[in-house]
Amino acid sequence: MADPHNQVFFPSALPELFTAWNRFPDAVPFAGGTGLLRNQGKHILTLPQNILSLERLEELHRISRTERYLEIGAMVTISEILRLGKTVPEALTQSLSRIAGPQMRNLITIGGNICNPLRRLDAAAPLIALDARYELRTAAETRWVSASRFSALPGPLALKPLELLTRIRIPLEEWQYSLYKKFRGGETVDSSIDESGGGAVFMARIQKNILTDLRIVFAGQSVLRDKNSETSLAGKHLPLDRREAEHFSELWKTFLSAVENPGFMLRSKLYNFVESCILSLSD
Ligand SMILES: Cc1cc2nc3c(=O)[nH]c(=O)nc-3n(C[C@H](O)[C@H](O)[C@H](O)COP(=O)(O)OP(=O)(O)OC[C@H]3O[C@@H](n4cnc5c(N)ncnc54)[C@H](O)[C@@H]3O)c2cc1C
Repeated sequence: MADPHNQVFFPSALPELFTAWNRFPDAVPFAGGTGLLRNQGKHILTLPQNILSLERLEELHRISRTERYLEIGAMVTISEILRLGKTVPEALTQSLSRIAGPQMRNLITIGGNICNPLRRLDAAAPLIALDARYELRTAAETRWVSASRFSALPGPLALKPLELLTRIRIPLEEWQYSLYKKFRGGETVDSSIDESGGGAVFMARIQKNILTDLRIVFAGQSVLRDKNSETSLAGKHLPLDRREAEHFSELWKTFLSAVENPGFMLRSKLYNFVESCILSLSD
């Protein structure tokens, strides 16, 4: 009789995947495998007991584009997204191109990057800032969740048991200014356990010399965004008055000192990032 454990499933359709998942609720989705196998410098790798390979699910590999949205299947790799070129919003391109090296980017999937349970990885901050939405599916239902709700911290990802991320929908609005900054963990080699590691994105929309929208998001061991300071500059003429820019930086400083999670290192890295971005819009 077949051993009920240590099974690898290769479903080619979602109903097949959910049937297997219902039989083996402990089974773990396997996308590029780079997160699941990371830091295993052993000859024999440790894998979850039961695995659901997402490789053959054709619909998870699809990419489509309308006038308003770019839709990317969860199994699309980072390299494939980068090859789409200018279709992809600049903030996302910048963050994805800073993930590992080219070989790893051929393996890492966007879904695996978003669903890593340990911390929020490089795709998280731009997808939150861009108001992306995620399609999540169980055997019984499909729901859409905003990137900011999905990746909110503290707490786990907004994935229910036996739920799969299937698609990412990214609005294709124009942002005239986008900058992604990756913060390497300071004291440890493995940035995943250093709270100051992560990435911050700055995006500005400018119409007729007026700053109409501004977003700054950090994602790592915490997710930080201060909507209060963002709205304080909406509608201002560019270049910004120096005092307006300084006031904005002060608002961020107050915000950072009020949130519990970030330590000194992250606070100072983020503050420097915010200050330099906003000063670049001032005279
Ligand atoms: C050497 C190295 C360097 C790296 N550098 C970086 C870096 O600089 N920046 C960065 O962001 N990442 C980096 N990572 C990659 C990081 O491991 C991945 O971004 C990501 O977590 C794994 O993507 P994956 O497709 O390999 O997913 P997997 O490893 O297969 O899965 C990761 C997790 O997500 C879950 N999962 C995967 N897909 C889905 C889905 N569709 N629905 C629900 N759950 C799902 C899995 O069950 C698992 O828990 C690096 C990895 C390595 C090995």
